[in-house]
Amino acid sequence: MIANALIAWFTTNGRDLPWRHTRDPYRVLVAELMLQQTQVERVIPKYHAFLAQFPDVQTLAAAPTSAIITAWQGLGYNRRALYLQRTAQAVVSQYAGVFPRDVATLKQLPGIGDYTSGAIACFAYEQDVAFLDTNIRRVVLRLWSDPHAPIPSEQSLRDLAAQQVPAGQGWVWNQAIMELGAIICTATAPKCPRCPLRGDCGDYAARLAADDALLPLPPAKPRRVAERKDAPFAGSNRQIRGRIIDALRESPQSGAQLHTHLTSLGLTLDTAKLTTIIAGLGRDGLVVVDGDIIKLPE
Ligand code: SF4
Repeated sequence: MIANALIAWFTTNGRDLPWRHTRDPYRVLVAELMLQQTQVERVIPKYHAFLAQFPDVQTLAAAPTSAIITAWQGLGYNRRALYLQRTAQAVVSQYAGVFPRDVATLKQLPGIGDYTSGAIACFAYEQDVAFLDTNIRRVVLRLWSDPHAPIPSEQSLRDLAAQQVPAGQGWVWNQAIMELGAIICTATAPKCPRCPLRGDCGDYAARLAADDALLPLPPAKPRRVAERKDAPFAGSNRQIRGRIIDALRESPQSGAQLHTHLTSLGLTLDTAKLTTIIAGLGRDGLVVVDGDIIKLPE
C-alpha cells in the first residue's frame, strides 16, 4: 500500500526539522512562510532566532513592523514578514489569539492561501487535508496522473492529492510526500531507484516502458511539472528592493542617499526607476515615505 510504504520511508529517512516538533499553529505559520522561496538550511537558524524574539502571536502582532522586517533579514521576499504580522494581528483581533482550525476560515486571514491554510490545518491541527506546494504537486503528477495526457488542472491535482490522504494520518502523510519531493522525487533528476513508491509510479512505469528509466527526466519534456525559471536576480527590481530594505534597516535615508548607496553596490538605475521602486515598496507597506526621507514602517 502506497501510504504504508511512504510513511515507513519517511519515518526512517525524513529530516529532523525543528518545525516538525511543534503543533503550535503560530510556529507552523512562521516556518511555512519562511520556507516559501528560502532553502531549509537558511531557514533553520532564522526560525529559531525569530521565535526567540517573537515567541507568540500576541508578541508579533504588537511588535513594530520595522523590527519584524529587520528580523527577516537574510530570508528575502520581505513582504512575507508583513503578511505574517497582518495575519498575527487578525488572529489576535478577530480570534482572541487562537488560530481558527478549519481551512475555509483560515483562508480568510490576510496572506493565507490554499497552501498555507492547508498546512496549518494539517501540521498544527493534524487534520486529514490535502494541499499542494511545488514538491507535493510534482510527486502527485508523477505518481498518479496519466503521463501521456495533458497536465491536469490545479483543482484536479488537489482532488487527486486529497484521495490519497490516509484517514487519521494526514500529518505524517503530508510531511512524507513533501519530503519525498524534496529529496528523492526532485525536479530534474529524480532518484527513482531509491524511491519507495517506484512500483506504483505512473511516470516511472512510462519511462521504464520507454527503456530510459534510469536516466534523469528529460528537462525539456513539457508535460513534466513545468519548473518555473526565475528571472535573473542581478540588477533586477527584486535585488534593488532588497538592497533598499537592507539600507533602511540601518537607518532612514533620503532618495539621494539611497541612489548613491545603490550605485556604490554596482546597481545602475536612474532617479525615475528608483522613485518607481520606492513607490512600489510603499504600496506593499514595506517602507514609509516622509517628505524626502524613506524609512521602515513603525
Ligand atoms: S519513482 Fe521516480 S518519478 Fe516516481 S515518485 Fe518515485 S522518484 Fe518520483
